[in-house]
Amino acid sequence: MRATFSLGRPAGIRVGAHWSVLLTMALLAWLLAESLLPAAVPGLSAVVYWASGTAGSVVFLASLLVHELSHALVARHRGLAVDRVTLWLFGGSTELTDDPSTPRTALAVAVAGPAASLLAGAGFLGVSLPLSGVVAVTLAWLGWTNLVLAVFNLLPGAPLDGGRVLQALVWRLTGDKRRAQAASARSGRVLGLALAGAGLAWLLWSGSFAGLWLAGIGWFLSLSARAELAAGPAREVLGRIRLGEIMTPAPVTAPGWFTVQGFVDQAAAARFRTYPVMAFDGHPVGVISLALLARVPEQARASTRVEDVCARPPACLVAAPDTPLPAVLGRIGGRPGQDLALVVSDGVLVGVVSPGDIARTLELAVLGANAHRSAQ
Ligand SMILES: [Zn+2]
Repeated sequence: MRATFSLGRPAGIRVGAHWSVLLTMALLAWLLAESLLPAAVPGLSAVVYWASGTAGSVVFLASLLVHELSHALVARHRGLAVDRVTLWLFGGSTELTDDPSTPRTALAVAVAGPAASLLAGAGFLGVSLPLSGVVAVTLAWLGWTNLVLAVFNLLPGAPLDGGRVLQALVWRLTGDKRRAQAASARSGRVLGLALAGAGLAWLLWSGSFAGLWLAGIGWFLSLSARAELAAGPAREVLGRIRLGEIMTPAPVTAPGWFTVQGFVDQAAAARFRTYPVMAFDGHPVGVISLALLARVPEQARASTRVEDVCARPPACLVAAPDTPLPAVLGRIGGRPGQDLALVVSDGVLVGVVSPGDIARTLELAVLGANAHRSAQ
């Protein structure tokens, strides 16, 4: 899930949100303001209900963020690189750059989120007890939703946290990480279909919107689990590939000190859309694409230098040749400047990895995995 907007870097971790999270926020505010709060504390004005409902939904999303950041912080504490945390329609996701190297680490990362939700749930319920009125009801709702969130996430199927727990346990018992991944993904597929079925039955039985929501979550889970199952063999192959093995060496570069106009004339003759930008001293400084050049107004092209408009780290990807491919997978392509990773060794540009290099590698890995399977 690609974030639509950034929510900053709390504790140094990149946090973003997909636009669909606004839908979740609006739905929760509506649920509280139009249904739960008026039923629990009748006779107040709509303004009070909507103010409490909106506050409740914002705090709920904040507690969801705490859940995800707990995964991320425990992962980082255990030496794993965290890519980003994203909030979206059905909750949040924490993406790690590295795979956990031991079952113990996998287990610690997996339980951190539900543990945080349990604590938050107990905290909200505790605070709500001595209070009364609409504030107490909103806090109690926050408490129960966090408890439900913790329990739901512990259901034993990937990609839920409970699936990661199952995976860590199977890994520990069998010593076979790949078998453990396949087992938790299979379990996630069954669980997702069961939840989707239960949600549909609920929707048809009572016309409840919650049924539709559950069906949506179940459907999403089963699709994610299926994707994990399918990606298993390829992922193992990919994990062993280093950027240095798949990069395009000696790429055509853009001199950063050239004016945009000067470089456009040169780029028209070259066949590429994206170039590493080099400083005058020979060090790579960033990435320039034709799309970025096109943003420079025509009258400014003769006075603007390429290095002034290129994407620089962290907006562009820079990695060492021994970086495993999964660390940049999913981060190349898309935004201008991120459509090329610079492979740099001791400050020297040794090559680039483009979406084309990655597609070729993936296709070869799939061919290799299939060939391997049919040979068994
Ligand atoms: Zn979680």
